[in-house]
Amino acid sequence: MGKKWKPELLILALALLLAGMGLGERGVVSADGPAEIGTEKPLIALTFDDGPRRSTTEALLDGLAERGVKATFFLVGEMIPGCEDLIERMDREGHQIGTHSYDHVRLIGLNAADFARQVDRTEALLTEIVGHGGFVLRPPYGMIDKGVEKRSNSALILWSIDPEDWNDKHADRIVEHIVSQAKDGDVILLHDIYPTSVDAALRVVDALHQKGFLFVTVEELALQRHVELKAGETYRSFYP
Ligand SMILES: [Zn+2]
Repeated sequence: MGKKWKPELLILALALLLAGMGLGERGVVSADGPAEIGTEKPLIALTFDDGPRRSTTEALLDGLAERGVKATFFLVGEMIPGCEDLIERMDREGHQIGTHSYDHVRLIGLNAADFARQVDRTEALLTEIVGHGGFVLRPPYGMIDKGVEKRSNSALILWSIDPEDWNDKHADRIVEHIVSQAKDGDVILLHDIYPTSVDAALRVVDALHQKGFLFVTVEELALQRHVELKAGETYRSFYP
């Protein structure tokens, strides 16, 4: 029996070796910012607009934490007062924070002062809470014109998958829409102010984890795809 060739032992040894290499790559990720993950897994970004809202955003953060998933939140300025702790938590738990105007208004056609009142004011509020700047911008309704491009001091992030969860508050349909479309490099648009969207988002995470997807922030997704996010430029997806 001792002389018998055992291919399963070789396979086990190779598997252990590969697992060790994987751990080594993960060790490269630094604590102070995104670094290359070094994975062949399909990557995808969950993004949430219009919050924070205590009841729903807190449940979402709990669900994401349980699953070890990082997302990107585009926050509305007027929703921030009273939710400072949730924003600190987002930042502490590795989520990316972006702005979505102060009053959820269209940014197109605004003069410089009004643009500043919507965007710079929200950025200042967030900086005070998290102690750093660097917020990407998602203009409400995805509306961008030359003025928005010129005035924005950050990248403009749109999306490539939109289940219209604000319109169709039906978790099953939202999950089906996203899971059937999801591709490596997609940016998913959801709104963390509806219980159905939070429920759908967590089910999407579970379903896409089953398919091997890794959830990353927009910033991490751009980095992995070697895309430099530039102020005033629009990004919808980060396909390989
Ligand atoms: Zn919005």
